Amino acid sequence: MAQLLDGKIMAAAVMDELKIRVDALKAKGITPGLAVILVGDDPASQVYVRNKGLGCEQLGMTSETIRLPGDTDQETLEKIIDELNGDDRFNGILVQLPLPKHLDETAALAKILPEKDVDGFHIENAGKLFTGQDGVVACTPKGIMYMLEKAGVELTGKNAVVIGRSNIVGKPIAMLLLDANCTVTICHSRTKNLAEHTRNADVLVAAVGRPRFVTADMVKEGAAVIDVGINRVDGKLCGDVDFDAVAEKAGYITPVPGGVGKMTICMLMMNTVEAAEKKAK
Ligand code: NDP
Repeated sequence: MAQLLDGKIMAAAVMDELKIRVDALKAKGITPGLAVILVGDDPASQVYVRNKGLGCEQLGMTSETIRLPGDTDQETLEKIIDELNGDDRFNGILVQLPLPKHLDETAALAKILPEKDVDGFHIENAGKLFTGQDGVVACTPKGIMYMLEKAGVELTGKNAVVIGRSNIVGKPIAMLLLDANCTVTICHSRTKNLAEHTRNADVLVAAVGRPRFVTADMVKEGAAVIDVGINRVDGKLCGDVDFDAVAEKAGYITPVPGGVGKMTICMLMMNTVEAAEKKAK
């Protein structure tokens, strides 16, 4: 039976450590702050944004959510980002994705000052990750690496397989695993014989967005299985991994909910605190 990588427990420990760092900054007269821009009324985005605000509150950080109507134009959005870039109350700026279809996501993200890009999606931060330089690392991949490290999962020389090649999860986690000396395979919707790849994985990351997509027959005995997926089936959350069956076979597994998602939020808090610490220096 797999060891559970409990995001709730790990996230609570990270938040305790961050609280100390926030208090230390506050003692110097600096309160870290996060500004979140939410365009439109996507229900899932509303939940994520609320949780981000709660995370800031828990740490005693400044947080503000700028709610814009769904028909906001690009110019208005970019003007608000510009204003936040110049606002010293905020060390972090986050544009909640996805944006409504008429808006240019790439252009909006490019407007955020790289040092305030606490999501790590700005091309400068993505480029730094790909060239091994110090930059802001995207929260979900950063959280996954934290979980693997805390659990003591050996990575050097291991086969890591990532299912999914998005800019926010698949590509950056593949790069981080490569940096950690894994041999990395990235799979996607055009991959032939997917199970042949996944059965070879010592570390398997599923970032697909399809409920219970990874079944036990696709998993190597003893593998570390990281489930990034957040899917809703009959009103209940489930991941991309068929949890019960895969847990019988894997060495480590993350649950959904209570796994990677919990880490994502606290890594956002960590990136914001780190941005404030860098500025304080
Ligand atoms: P995307 O939709 O951007 O990417 C999904 C990836 O899965 C694509 O690369 C796609 O391939 C691949 N894929 C789709 N179908 C198949 C298939 N049949 N076989 C193999 N690969 C397939 O999603 P995201 O990366 O943004 O998110 C993935 C999941 O993670 C979602 O459920 C999302 O909600 C969740 N998520 C969770 C977070 C958390 O904090 N826990 C944070 C971010 C996302 P192709 O490129 O060829 O289309």
